[in-house]
Amino acid sequence: MSLANQLTRKNIQGLVPYESARRTMSGGRIWLNANESPFANAYELDDSVYNRYPDFQPADLISSYAAYANVEKNQVLAGRGADEAIELLVRTFCEKDEKILICPPTYGMYAISAETCNIDVVKVPLKSDFTLDIPAIEQAQKEHKIKVVFICSPNNPTGHLVSATQIKQVLNIFASSAIVAVDEAYIEFAYENTVAGWINKYANLAVLRTMSKAFGLAGIRCGYTLANKDIIESMSKVIAPYPISWPVAQIATQALSETGLARMHSQLAIILEQKNKVQQALDSLDYVYEQLPSASNFIMFRTKQKQGLFKYLVDNGILIRDYSKQVLLDDSLRISIGSAEETQALIEAMQAFKAE
Ligand SMILES: *Cc1c(COP(=O)(O)O)cnc(C)c1O
Repeated sequence: MSLANQLTRKNIQGLVPYESARRTMSGGRIWLNANESPFANAYELDDSVYNRYPDFQPADLISSYAAYANVEKNQVLAGRGADEAIELLVRTFCEKDEKILICPPTYGMYAISAETCNIDVVKVPLKSDFTLDIPAIEQAQKEHKIKVVFICSPNNPTGHLVSATQIKQVLNIFASSAIVAVDEAYIEFAYENTVAGWINKYANLAVLRTMSKAFGLAGIRCGYTLANKDIIESMSKVIAPYPISWPVAQIATQALSETGLARMHSQLAIILEQKNKVQQALDSLDYVYEQLPSASNFIMFRTKQKQGLFKYLVDNGILIRDYSKQVLLDDSLRISIGSAEETQALIEAMQAFKAE
């Protein structure tokens, strides 16, 4: 064992890092494996401020997030992506003997952030219809010291929305004992379902948002948390002193301007149109025996040919993601929706694939 290994904290020694699409993939020309936007947009930068540290929370950016989400400015915390907010919640609210609760299959970073902080994870799997198992969550609340609950809606990787009724049930179960974080990374694809409007009513609600998906800004790392001002104040004690660089603040602010939002909405419409095409194509393929409903920019489907298909697509330069080892996701592959050209290439390849 190397010296570094010996000195590494025990919980980190055994940790398997998040297998991001970018870490695990190799080659390919069409990337449909990380739910990114196919659109890269241009921005204008003012470099006259780069010699100065950025504002802790850049004022223009906070105003833009608040206006977009229809909340007060003191109900917003800007950070380096929704991933940073996930870790901040764990570091801000969990004492060392306390736990987080997740409902797999769901986004992998909740468990990894907890594990890096040496916080245990209570798993209450979704039911077979992919809804939350409310009685089991209630039971878990009684049995464990749970401090943060992560609910992802629309859920990555399944694409399902969690119903407003179920989210309220979870908020009520943990009303006096835990923060309930609703991860809305994909909410732009089903915006009428946002729960951001509830932050004044539920003292334990935090809503996680990102610029990485619908806004096409995964490469600059920016996201934000919406919650009542007391939650935001607590998280502000833990976040780094200069979390948002000037270029990131400028780009995200422009993305949230009137023209930025109009562009996002027109690109969203194109993505939804392509999603429709992929859904129809999946319906017509004999070797696909189920596809899950999707309120997002990706589709999960099942095929007995998953290995062969996955390899065939890789051989044709198309990268998708294999989820078949996860609970409830036997035989499942996930496709992110790309541009019209990428969708065309994907559908042609899937039609050309000869099932065994
Ligand atoms: C992509 C994703 C994130 C991470 O967002 P960043 O802002 O890029 O860190 C968080 N949650 C879910 C569910 C995601 O799919």
